[in-house]
Amino acid sequence: MELDTEDLAARITRGERRALARAITLVESGRADHRAEAADLLAALPQDRQALRIGLSGTPGVGKSTFIESFGMMLIGKGLKVAVLAVDPSSTRSGGSILGDKTRMDQLSRERDAFIRPSPSQTHLGGVARRTREAVRLCEAAGFDVVLIETVGVGQSETVVAEMSDLFLLLLAPAGGDELQGVKRGIMEMADIILVNKADGDLKAAATRTCADYAGALRLLRKRPQDPDGFPTAMTVSALEVSGLETAWERMNALADWRRAEGFWDRTRAAQARYWFLEDVKQRLLAQLDSATAKADLQALSDAVASGEADPSVAAQEFLAGLKRV
Ligand code: GDP
Repeated sequence: MELDTEDLAARITRGERRALARAITLVESGRADHRAEAADLLAALPQDRQALRIGLSGTPGVGKSTFIESFGMMLIGKGLKVAVLAVDPSSTRSGGSILGDKTRMDQLSRERDAFIRPSPSQTHLGGVARRTREAVRLCEAAGFDVVLIETVGVGQSETVVAEMSDLFLLLLAPAGGDELQGVKRGIMEMADIILVNKADGDLKAAATRTCADYAGALRLLRKRPQDPDGFPTAMTVSALEVSGLETAWERMNALADWRRAEGFWDRTRAAQARYWFLEDVKQRLLAQLDSATAKADLQALSDAVASGEADPSVAAQEFLAGLKRV
């Protein structure tokens, strides 16, 4: 059946969930005809709708899904529409997905104003990233006010999520001792707000201590131009007892408002668009290298170089000129 992209775009814009789900399935497809339809669809969407894109990272067990459930329900209570997407690097290995799973956000997944989508599975992070980024655009077009993009704290995927977010949250659990929990400096540097979760019951004192440790560590980081005084910041929350979430939301809005007023919001989104454009070019070039013709050409030319028939840089030039014709 031929897809009517104009019609699908109109239905997404009206906020029809089934149309949104279908569109996300379309952008997740690797088929060439689907890619072309997805490009038409993205071009047909309104450009003027912006959600607050919030990246959220944390190692398994810190309470990401509990936080998203409580935080999402709070936002819905304020009349906001909330979408939850995930970038799950492990799904690239297992073929399944562990994040954004509906059963993990039981209450939220039953809300009319919530939309939860698990991570697309793919062979490489670049593919997951592109699909999630396009899903973010679709959710914005569908009128969602807040898009939460969740990932696990294992490295590369944080960069990917930070590059598609307006705000980046790092969720931590209270530490037993006084040492920082081996959070990589690079990840700390990405965080706008560190949330030390589980600040309740027996864990409350440890959470307060951990929070103070991280607040101290944040003060040692180089000041970034996109931060007003007082940011990045660390605070305690309890996703389970739903405490500290209002304050966290206030802090997020204070930061977002300041960045909008100072021009950082638009500048960051523009820089992100450039980043994704270059990433897309790289992905496409890599995909071309993977084609049967390219592989055969590479083999033939590398044989010619090895036997001394061709000079390496002349052969490289010849190879690239051949790629352009594809
Ligand atoms: P995720 O793997 O990061 O998504 O973590 P989950 O949300 O699945 O939570 C892992 C465990 O920590 C579960 O047993 C939760 O009930 C528990 N947990 C999550 N948030 C809190 C909290 O605020 N306080 C306490 N005490 N436990 C929590």
